[in-house]
Amino acid sequence: MDDRNGWGRNRPEPTGSPHDPPTSFVEQATVTNAADDEPLDAQFEDAWPACWERAADLLSWDEAYDTVLDDSNAPFYRWFTGGELNASYNCIDRHLEAGRKNHAAIRWEGKRGERETYTYQDLFVAVNEFAAALRELGVEADDVVTIYLPMIPELPIAMLACARIGAPHSVVFAGLSADALATRMDAADSEYLVTCDGYYRRGDAFNQKSKADNARLAVEQDVETVVVDRLGEELPHVLGDDEWDYHDLCAEFAGASVEPVSRDAEDMLFLMYTSGTTGDPKGVVHSTGGYLAQIAWTARSVLDIQPADTYWCAADIGWITGHSYIVYGPLALGTTTVMYEGTPDYPDRDRLWEIIDRNAVDIFYTAPTAVRAFMKWGTEYPDRHDLSSLRLLGSVGEPISPRPWRWYYEHIGDGECPIVDTWWQTETGAIMVSTLPGVDPMKPGAAGPPLPGIEVAVVDEDGNEVDPGKAGYLTIPRPWPAMARTLYDGDERYRAEYWDRFSDPDADDWWYFSGDTASVDDDGYVTVLGRVDDVINVASQRLSTMEIESAIAEVDGVAETAVVGRSSERRGTEIYAYVSAAGDPSDGLRERILESVADAIGPIATPEAVVFTPELPKTRSGKIMRRLLEDIANGEELGDTSALRNPEIVGEIQSERDRS
Ligand code: ATP
Ligand code: MG
Repeated sequence: MDDRNGWGRNRPEPTGSPHDPPTSFVEQATVTNAADDEPLDAQFEDAWPACWERAADLLSWDEAYDTVLDDSNAPFYRWFTGGELNASYNCIDRHLEAGRKNHAAIRWEGKRGERETYTYQDLFVAVNEFAAALRELGVEADDVVTIYLPMIPELPIAMLACARIGAPHSVVFAGLSADALATRMDAADSEYLVTCDGYYRRGDAFNQKSKADNARLAVEQDVETVVVDRLGEELPHVLGDDEWDYHDLCAEFAGASVEPVSRDAEDMLFLMYTSGTTGDPKGVVHSTGGYLAQIAWTARSVLDIQPADTYWCAADIGWITGHSYIVYGPLALGTTTVMYEGTPDYPDRDRLWEIIDRNAVDIFYTAPTAVRAFMKWGTEYPDRHDLSSLRLLGSVGEPISPRPWRWYYEHIGDGECPIVDTWWQTETGAIMVSTLPGVDPMKPGAAGPPLPGIEVAVVDEDGNEVDPGKAGYLTIPRPWPAMARTLYDGDERYRAEYWDRFSDPDADDWWYFSGDTASVDDDGYVTVLGRVDDVINVASQRLSTMEIESAIAEVDGVAETAVVGRSSERRGTEIYAYVSAAGDPSDGLRERILESVADAIGPIATPEAVVFTPELPKTRSGKIMRRLLEDIANGEELGDTSALRNPEIVGEIQSERDRS
């Protein structure tokens, strides 16, 4: 699978700009610009949707599919129909058969400095044992198993064990509350839970089981629970009725082997909730065949993952990024995937750089919120370590504005690693928009063109495409293999959330609406501007908060910023900026911010108020909670703050606001 296949993409021509893909990278890239070939986009276009067979070819099928795309019941599309496969077989067994059993599959870095390596053989053994244990507890194909674990190896093992026996998993991020867990278990009518006694948060032992216990009390169904003993003596726990110790169970099935269950390509592989940045989290259903195919294909062509690599996505498996690009994508390709437990600043601010150094990581994938933090902490931390093993950097989760982009490029990539800024969503399942790192020039601030086979359109209120450079709604006019199949709370809500707005059902013309705003430039590069709700109307001009934020973020001394609108009698809406400073804000920072915005966008966009705060409120997946900041600006009562990672910051911001 590590052959280079000369897939070329000849657009746009190298520009000779500092952001062309570095030659050293291009020379070894998986997808290259083969000048004699027809460009990859054109190849995909000519053969759409059959082009997606290339992605399906990266997988091992038990039963060949008959049809690539069945669109007879749009927008409920079906991909690779008639095909059968097993995800755990694709992520494990086939690599053993290829003679790679001693190759490292997972390298785990624990919070207390523990380190463990699972070879593909080790992973095979662990997954089979737990799959046998789940069966023993009564889990059958199509039963939803809820997994509520922190970043420990048992988490991917449990996911793959579920996949092996055809039981969809629903992973709930470990930091979420008992209520959130109960809601998700209820929605899926899930009768099985895999959790742990507790885990370390920074230095302290933290009780996870008591949250799980409360959730179990809150749901109607009886729940069989498996408990991983993570903390041992540090947090003794007692097992009650219907509770089983993970390691005892596995010991009982030592050496077991469980035949992977062939699943229909359209069978649900897992259920996953969105982050809840804009509203109530949505439970998204993902398929087995289409999902795995596009995940493997994007992991290979965008993240350039090759089997010999050590690849690290520093996200949490509790979010889609971790499902797709810590677990399924890299393991389907047979590479080594690193997973770490903890935070980038504990025990010190060089934790990540130390892990890259020690493991000689080739590819590193993280979020802009992290990059902004690294920037604030300063270069002394990465400078302490040898990061020369890196060859590619990735970004996901939010737009990455030019200054953090450049910092990442220079200080982590040493100017030699392309950055892929990957736009996608829980609902898209896989990366949709990004440069191909061995082919396309990078433009800091713009994610890139849609990937081959993917189409995006930026449209106005009426669904008409807007001119290049103009802002509009980001839509996807054509289906793609990893797309969500529906929402867990029903087909109706799925249609209402994503399809009703820009589709014409009478003409059988279906356009997916992402909920994001964006613009596309003359080269077809997409710049994501933010969420639909993040457009504010100032003196009848529609301004994107993201654009104003970019102008503020360019100012030296600004670490992070969020802009919201505040209702005002005089101007309709006024602009309110929250800024976390890298140094001392009294040093003329406010003036420089106002000047930068006026220069970049115009005086109309100048913030009415600039509120300095040590931190911005963030969701548990690390995204800025603008909704809440808007309530603070408007002096409104604050809704539920339990979705926040740092709820304590809210009071500080309120009192800072009152002062400014
Ligand atoms: P919810 O849908 O519940 O509000 P969420 O949208 O934050 O939560 P995710 O599916 O994790 O949940 O995030 C997807 C969103 O993240 C995208 O719609 C987009 O707004 C943003 N995003 C992801 N990657 C990028 C990127 N590279 N550039 C810009 N924005 C991005
Ligand atoms: Mg979303």
